[in-house]
Amino acid sequence: MFTSTSALRLASRRIATTSTRSVSSASSSTATKVVKEGSSRYANEEYLRKALPLLLASGVAIVGASQLSSNNETSTTTLCRSKSSNKVEAAIQQTKDKFAKYWPRNIMILFGPPGAGKGTHGPKIEDLLGIPQLSTGDMLRAAVAAQTEVGKKAQAVMKAGGLVSDDIVVGIIRDRIKEDDCKFGFILDGFPRTLVQAQALDKMLAEEGASVTKVIELQVPDEVLEERICGRWIHKSSGRSYHVKFAPPKSMQVGDDGKPIAESMKDDETGEPLMQRPDDTASALVKRLQGYHNETVPILNHYSPNGIVKTVNANQKMDGVWGEVLDSLSRK
Ligand code: ADP
Ligand code: ADP
Repeated sequence: MFTSTSALRLASRRIATTSTRSVSSASSSTATKVVKEGSSRYANEEYLRKALPLLLASGVAIVGASQLSSNNETSTTTLCRSKSSNKVEAAIQQTKDKFAKYWPRNIMILFGPPGAGKGTHGPKIEDLLGIPQLSTGDMLRAAVAAQTEVGKKAQAVMKAGGLVSDDIVVGIIRDRIKEDDCKFGFILDGFPRTLVQAQALDKMLAEEGASVTKVIELQVPDEVLEERICGRWIHKSSGRSYHVKFAPPKSMQVGDDGKPIAESMKDDETGEPLMQRPDDTASALVKRLQGYHNETVPILNHYSPNGIVKTVNANQKMDGVWGEVLDSLSRK
């Protein structure tokens, strides 16, 4: 559920992870202004519409500040703050309901071959825009791990680097995008992978008068992908991607043979073990790349006439890729 609390959590994650102090302090000073003015002006919809992102951030600031100070302050002060934050929260909810009802959904496709950086940049777009990344690969891997009917059908073909049937993945996406957290939009990662899937997606969106709003193509030559794929380690529950050379976890230790010691590979945030995917092998990659070029790339021609395809050079350092992704997301 995309509740106001989860929106606040997203905004909070953004503040916590932002590397630019000035951005953070500018936001918080404007946020303070919004909070101060909020009690007298919170009914002003136009004001709220413009201030929504800051309100989300300020909501976090208020809740966080009132929680932190609750031990030290008098109960009267705390009560005033919580009343004021309740008003802001109610106003945010009201504005969000209007966005959900009247604004078109932001529907993006993150496009690129295996190893292009979809899993690396998707979560950052998710944080930036507050819409979820839906990875069919992650969903299918979860189904395999849980040995559901879908998982049993998908397991062998996935391990060999083939494609799961269109019916299965279209069904998964059809159900997923009905969920509440997708009401402002979503980022598709790994879907659509065939023209049939793209047509099925267009059809299901057309039923609600919607369509794909942007396709971000991460372009990388095939030759660099083997090193990326074979050095990839992932944190299963969050989908966070690491690399033994390009993005090692803080805990990584290297053995006498120069290879990373498997037991030392831990997620930076949770300390949980990382794993390698069974299909992240050089031989399965050959098949995955064939599938990508033959079946997936034609999708670009399908969406190009709409003027929504943006190409990013993903064969550069991650920061450079992210800069181009940001450019491709912004309105020109
Ligand atoms: P995808 O989700 O598109 O399959 P990932 O985001 O998981 O790809 O990236 C594949 C591997 O390559 C990961 O180990 C990641 O850390 C690494 N990687 C991603 N982008 C870059 C880059 N620009 N330069 C070097 N390595 C990268
Ligand atoms: P990649 O790192 O190759 O982008 P994903 O995590 O997106 O890999 O997908 C892993 C595997 O899951 C694919 O090789 C394929 O077997 C299956 N899969 C994922 N998405 C789809 C899809 N849209 N259609 C068919 N098979 C899919």
